[in-house]
Amino acid sequence: MTPKNFSQNGKIQPIEKANIPFSNIEYAYGYGVYESLRIRNGIVFFEKQHIDRLINSASILEIEHPFTKEIISESISNLIILEAPSTCNLKILLIGGKSPSDAKLNIFLLNPLFPDRKLYSDGMNTITYKYQRLFPNAKTLSMLGSYMAYKKAKENNCYDALLIDENKNIIEGTRTNFFAMKGKKIFTAPKEKILEGITREIVILLAKEDDYEIIEDEISINKLSSYDSAFLTSTSSKIIPVKNIDSHKFTNISDELRNLMNLYDKFLESSNGVFDF
Ligand code: PLP
Repeated sequence: MTPKNFSQNGKIQPIEKANIPFSNIEYAYGYGVYESLRIRNGIVFFEKQHIDRLINSASILEIEHPFTKEIISESISNLIILEAPSTCNLKILLIGGKSPSDAKLNIFLLNPLFPDRKLYSDGMNTITYKYQRLFPNAKTLSMLGSYMAYKKAKENNCYDALLIDENKNIIEGTRTNFFAMKGKKIFTAPKEKILEGITREIVILLAKEDDYEIIEDEISINKLSSYDSAFLTSTSSKIIPVKNIDSHKFTNISDELRNLMNLYDKFLESSNGVFDF
């Protein structure tokens, strides 16, 4: 799809006007927050959760702005009505300013990138990279460390890099949440250290309903042999199994992990995009 319009501060504008001046220091320094939503068959998925997280990220960075949840939701609806997309991504970019009236809320559509199907059946490779994001609970434009980590992953033919802290605990992927598994036990890093992914939250709820046990704890790269499987989650990746972490190889993708992947796929298929936690 080729979008013709975008939304800025609640107003529809032609896409040709979607540019950011070189002089915008806030954008250049990453003083902004964003969200990527998935649109499937015309349905915007988990809009409420994404808007809540955007507002929360902005408040963590002390970005003052006039955009209420209602304004953001209405701006999304107006763009969707006009563009009538089927399957694509929708990005919300809220850039801070010197005063609330300088803040800019940009909403636009992007073509989606889907992971190769083979990665879901065979798992994918990852490397570890020592880096922790500055404001872990906020989804900010300040992505330099994550960019470097992802670049390294691609140079090593890996799907993503797993960010590790100074104690060699795996915290998260560059744009994904990380989980390790042993049977029906699922281990994931403590909330304070990560971006709480919307996919992560849904997967945890589905897992609990199916009698999995969720354990929020440190996951050391020195103890990987105590887990039988691992996976990443994100809006665009869904649940994707991890085959390798550096030189550690998981022997197979466990039945418990495959079951969880099925549960999530079925949940998405039957969902109308609205979900109450
Ligand atoms: N962790 C980080 C650091 C991210 O940037 C993202 C998404 O971009 C995620 C996790 C996954 O979040 P979600 O499941 O809401 O897409």
